[in-house]
Amino acid sequence: MDVVVVGAGQAGLSSAYHLRRAGYEPGRDFVVLDRSPRPGGAWQFRWPTLTYGRVHGMHSLPGMELAGADPQRPSSEVIGGYFADYERAFGLRVRRPVRVRAVREAGDGRLLVETDAGVWAARALINATGTWDRPYWPRVRGQESFAGRQFHTSRYPGPGLFAGERVVVVGGGTSAVQHLLEIAPVAAATAWVTRREPVFTEGPFDAERGRAAVALVEERVRDGLPPRSVVSVTGLPMTEEMRRARDSGVLRRLPMFDRITPGGVEWDDGRFIAADGIVWATGFRPAIGHLAPLRLREPGGGIRMDGTRVVRDPRIHLVGYGPSASTVGASRAGRAAVRAVRDILGRSPEGERTSGEPPVGVTARGTAAR
Ligand SMILES: Cc1cc2nc3c(=O)[nH]c(=O)nc-3n(C[C@H](O)[C@H](O)[C@H](O)COP(=O)(O)OP(=O)(O)OC[C@H]3O[C@@H](n4cnc5c(N)ncnc54)[C@H](O)[C@@H]3O)c2cc1C
Repeated sequence: MDVVVVGAGQAGLSSAYHLRRAGYEPGRDFVVLDRSPRPGGAWQFRWPTLTYGRVHGMHSLPGMELAGADPQRPSSEVIGGYFADYERAFGLRVRRPVRVRAVREAGDGRLLVETDAGVWAARALINATGTWDRPYWPRVRGQESFAGRQFHTSRYPGPGLFAGERVVVVGGGTSAVQHLLEIAPVAAATAWVTRREPVFTEGPFDAERGRAAVALVEERVRDGLPPRSVVSVTGLPMTEEMRRARDSGVLRRLPMFDRITPGGVEWDDGRFIAADGIVWATGFRPAIGHLAPLRLREPGGGIRMDGTRVVRDPRIHLVGYGPSASTVGASRAGRAAVRAVRDILGRSPEGERTSGEPPVGVTARGTAAR
């Protein structure tokens, strides 16, 4: 292959679309490998009460709008259906489930992409593996002794299971707040614990604030530092629902506890909260373990980037990583990565199209409208 794209979420599909549009044929010039069982990227795994109306501005993929979706339907269904239609409409021929285990040097300038379904050789790699497969759980003393249930956001089942229980939600981001808002009305009691004081922001999260947040992350990855959590650059945009929850005490935050006991969580100053369940909304890390053999990390612990290009190895592009870890960022990064990859490959594939139109006709029937 000229290019292997790893991952078929927003970032991988956008990359595949732009490769096709540049004349690269799926199956001949590039392949998209995805370990998930169905179309939808990480959205397919999100909890059923995360309805489409609750996501923050899902940006459409290039060339096909997602319009008119029912805000009451689970985002996993809406976006899963939309991605499935998209793959079909553009003939992207995603190979799934195929898990990339490692990417290594072939020794002749190419990369070997080792998977559970065979090995691909490629001249360039677009990595679009997101973060969902690498949930972050902080280690806390006594964690294994807890007698109740513990879930990370990545396996959060929705609020129903916590009916009548005492629940501690850990984490300072939007997922933690959303978990609390829906668990509090059914639970016997909730507590919210965060490492740092949460920063609520007023007013809409508009394009200008988005750009400022992206610029902060961009600066870090340009310096070879690992990207920080989303909330550290965006804050928590305040909504009416959150205001009400804050007024009723649901969003009264406690500092991080020092240990977990079989019956709850405890602080060194003697405070104790009894709990039947703990929900860890403590975020995710980039799922890039398969790139370890290439030794891309800098001494600062991150991967130094210039746009989507890895500075240590220009054959590798990371999309949906750091500054492009949002639906809008991932869509744009796909385009930027393909432009850069074409420069590396130094030629255009046969049959390159010069018009600006997509390679196949797409009727905008849009899953969302069905
Ligand atoms: C709870 C939650 C809510 C969010 N809500 C919003 C929102 O409202 N608006 C917004 O803009 N952004 C939101 N985001 C962020 C947004 O979802 C992501 O930035 C974007 O959708 C990620 O797209 P992606 O293509 O980078 O990754 P993903 O959607 O995670 O896709 C990555 C794909 O790569 C596959 N993969 C991973 N590892 C491998 C491997 N080794 N081999 C093969 N395949 C692999 C995965 O199976 C997956 O299918 C949210 C994130 C979370 C966690």
